[in-house]
Amino acid sequence: GCPGRLLELKGNIRVLCRLRPGTPSNLVSLEPGPGGTVTTRYRGHRRRFRLDWVFPPHASQEEVFRELESAVLSCLGGYSVCIFTYGQTGTGKTYSMEGPPEDPGIAPRALQSLFREMGTGGQHHVTLSMVEIYNEAVRDLLAPGPPQRLAVRQGPAGEGGIQVAGLTHWDVPNLESLHQMLNLGRSNRATAATAMNQHSSRSHALVTLTLRTASPSSGPGTAGTLHLVDLAGSERAWKAGAAGTSHEDRDGAQRLREARTINRSLLALGGVMAALRARRPHVPFRDSQLTRLLQPALGPGATAVLLLQVSTRPEDLGETVCSLKFAERVG
Ligand code: ADP
Ligand code: MG
Repeated sequence: GCPGRLLELKGNIRVLCRLRPGTPSNLVSLEPGPGGTVTTRYRGHRRRFRLDWVFPPHASQEEVFRELESAVLSCLGGYSVCIFTYGQTGTGKTYSMEGPPEDPGIAPRALQSLFREMGTGGQHHVTLSMVEIYNEAVRDLLAPGPPQRLAVRQGPAGEGGIQVAGLTHWDVPNLESLHQMLNLGRSNRATAATAMNQHSSRSHALVTLTLRTASPSSGPGTAGTLHLVDLAGSERAWKAGAAGTSHEDRDGAQRLREARTINRSLLALGGVMAALRARRPHVPFRDSQLTRLLQPALGPGATAVLLLQVSTRPEDLGETVCSLKFAERVG
């Protein structure tokens, strides 16, 4: 690819699609690359979806990051960038965002690239925060002590911002300390996962990096932000809650509630992106905690990248079509 391509996408939403490796099926076919397509054959209907980029199942972590790097680096120029991984549980959202240690994904690559670009000149001041949203409750993954639910409020008038009361922001002196903090955040998320089955597939994880530059060339107070968001699984409520139709089935009822709130924030995200894309005057940021938190980051001039993860397995086809429809709506 040609470097800098995504820089032209400032103020825009781009949708990339990555297919999970697996047994090829003639029910899902693709044309990879820029402006690529995914074609599904589902219940006798053939549908063709066009995306900004389609990565084939054998695409490497490096190939995926290559398409995102220039957008990531635009943060250093004071821009706001949000990268989301979206899709059904098990399709590779966390693999793409985090990756295994021996084959790192977007987050570690992005941070390394940013720190390499910043060099050691000390012109930049980097801070990190990390939250999880579960059942519309926001939790700080880096706060010392037991997890606490945080209140999300509208910031002071004129600043147009959102405040998360009590959220910790940590200074990041170097890449090594950044990795330590990310590991701490991940392990705090994992602690909850043992207490609650498959917690991580039902919660959104947000890593926010703020980069303030002291360089006079980019003007005073320039702050770029990078949000890396590993979204909850997008599977539909009726499916997740199918076991919870009986009042006696408390686990099922809990799952249904989770599915509805997951659905609510993913629907809200879709609504916000669709409104931004159509330049509608009203953007429904307030419809979920996820979109409230991201409101400052999704304003004019921001870049949002949705990495849609899909499965090619025949039994997942319904979800694959749903994910592609979501992409069609926002992209
Ligand atoms: P999700 O976060 O969407 O639920 P995961 O990232 O946990 O999905 O992926 C599910 C499984 O598939 C994991 O074992 C992961 O390692 C594997 N996997 C996903 N994508 C790839 C890929 N591109 N290459 C190799 N393994 C993958
Ligand atoms: Mg995951």
